[in-house]
Amino acid sequence: MIDFQKVIESIYVELKDDINRGEIASYIPELSTIDSQNFGIHLKHIDGNSYSSGDWNIPFSIQSISKVLSLAFVFPIYKDTIWERIDVEPSGNPFNQLSLLELENGIPRNPFINAGAIVIADMLVSHFDNPKHEFLNFIKDLTNDQTINYNYDVAKSEQRTGFRNYAAANLLKAFDNLENHVDDVLDFYFHQCALELTCEQLSNAFFMFANHGICLQQKKRLSQSQAKRINALMLTCGFYDEAGEFAFEVGLPGKSGVGGGIIAVLPNHFTITTWSPGLNQKGNSLIGMKALEKFTTKTNLSIF
Ligand code: GLU
Repeated sequence: MIDFQKVIESIYVELKDDINRGEIASYIPELSTIDSQNFGIHLKHIDGNSYSSGDWNIPFSIQSISKVLSLAFVFPIYKDTIWERIDVEPSGNPFNQLSLLELENGIPRNPFINAGAIVIADMLVSHFDNPKHEFLNFIKDLTNDQTINYNYDVAKSEQRTGFRNYAAANLLKAFDNLENHVDDVLDFYFHQCALELTCEQLSNAFFMFANHGICLQQKKRLSQSQAKRINALMLTCGFYDEAGEFAFEVGLPGKSGVGGGIIAVLPNHFTITTWSPGLNQKGNSLIGMKALEKFTTKTNLSIF
């Protein structure tokens, strides 16, 4: 029997004073003020137990991690028609790269690069009168936590500086892969990225991916097959152009965001979230990746 609390604490102690912490994302000005010393880990086991260490209870900007949750929200609504508008291949390119989108006629490589997530956002804007409200309720429901909210300053900050996202959305529109107005779709997209959750809330929100589509409140949110497919996408496309490295070092499906969060899943076992805002050159949390590598090495638990 693995003592998860002991393992997590030992990893926290080994890494908390590491001086090599990476760079805080500054291209979204509002994110640049976060203290790089923050570091938290939280594990939610499907048996209901939780284990944590460090700053696991401080809300942070989940950024691209939200792309998995927006996909999970549209999947039961649009089903496999999603894949007529978005592919399921790793891009091997940065999250905001545009040239591939042009070359491939406006079909984003996968739902976790920005262009793909913008198409998912378009589906939500088409389906709901108030998509921001509905998406927030979905997250509150998944976590059973009514306190979760968007950080409106972060959303505004991105609205002011997200030129590449405007470019991607316009390109999608030019290729007829966006039904709604660019501004409406990006308004939703910037808010979903600006959601703030703690490590614990994220572990809880992702519980359904470890539990065949059934969330923490025991509601069936995804079919078993849909949960499987999203886990496959996290493994192959969840870490920008470092998905191979993450699979190699850690060996779990997961997703990172430029706010410094990483969520990883071992189906049938647990979800684990780390948060440390300093990023490596590929945009993934430096300490978070180290922590998860140590975790799967020490516990011998991975999908491989
Ligand atoms: N909102 C960020 C952007 O669109 C998300 C980036 C990320 O976390 O990968 O640039």
